[in-house]
Amino acid sequence: MTLEIRRLHLAALRGPDGGEWPVHGFVIIHPGGAALVDTGVGGPDELLSDWRVVNRTAADALAGIGMTPADVGLVINTHLHFDHCGQNAVFPHAPVYVQRAELARAQREEPQLCDWLGFMNAPFELLDGDAEILPGVSVITTPGHTAGHQSVVVRSAGGSADLLIGDAAYTPRQYRQPPGPDGAGLPDGQAADFTAWQGSLARMHALGAGRVHFCHHTAIEHD
Ligand SMILES: [Zn+2]
Repeated sequence: MTLEIRRLHLAALRGPDGGEWPVHGFVIIHPGGAALVDTGVGGPDELLSDWRVVNRTAADALAGIGMTPADVGLVINTHLHFDHCGQNAVFPHAPVYVQRAELARAQREEPQLCDWLGFMNAPFELLDGDAEILPGVSVITTPGHTAGHQSVVVRSAGGSADLLIGDAAYTPRQYRQPPGPDGAGLPDGQAADFTAWQGSLARMHALGAGRVHFCHHTAIEHD
């Protein structure tokens, strides 16, 4: 079974370095139903204007690959920042897989965003650690960027793995280059918990993934 991964360009926003960063979601085409990893940008107006977002609806982005929201059987949020879960409401029929620790963090740290997104009624499937979501599609915990961050590993039969890294590394540079002591040189927001973040990075490198896909960078890295 070969699992195809399609990248969606969902938005552009001003990144921590002042440059324009893309926001990607990823569709995993699976015989058990398509899975969407991260849904793009949404949130209260004051939050979006702060980030100077050029947005695109998830439905428009899906139309670009010949799909509609109804074709998405499940959603995986790598974490609950506004540029990764902002359009979850477009998929009310789809269970949303997120780490329990991440939902708790969002409710603690970002109550305004949680209110806007209507998290109380969201169809969350809460995870406590690594889990297989569909045959060949797993999540692994990669805390550090946020307390409950997870990344997605896609394994096709006979092929090397794809790693959908979320914000565990914003760009290939953070994935490749060791930062200075205590995270010196990392972009703002990359590592809320630097020790945990380093551990997650080591864990991901140990996977030996054939391809690493970034939410905020167009390059695809090869391990
Ligand atoms: Zn983030």
